[in-house]
Amino acid sequence: MKKVFEDFDITLVGHYQSVLESNGIATYMKNQFGTSGAGELPFVEVIPQLWILNDSDAGRAHELIEELHEPGNKDSSRAWVCPKCATEMEAAFTHCWKCSAARPPPPGSEK
Ligand SMILES: [Zn+2]
Repeated sequence: MKKVFEDFDITLVGHYQSVLESNGIATYMKNQFGTSGAGELPFVEVIPQLWILNDSDAGRAHELIEELHEPGNKDSSRAWVCPKCATEMEAAFTHCWKCSAARPPPPGSEK
């Protein structure tokens, strides 16, 4: 088993689970009911987690999650390096401030 996603928003985790399931990936959600009586438990024990049963599905699962995660979620907090002039950019820039080349797709999207 491999953990592929976790978030305090259980509806989000559930949504990802149903997407993975509908793509033929067997999943398991941990801590689904963790929010009830969470008082005594350490932080990490109660965050809903999405696991995949077959490690061989990991690449595919990450791809799907990435796809779901990117569009609405503009914060993508990774710095990037301009493919044209190799200048390092803050995550906030969508274009290179130096040569105005467009930001390349996030790493891992072609894997
Ligand atoms: Zn540039």
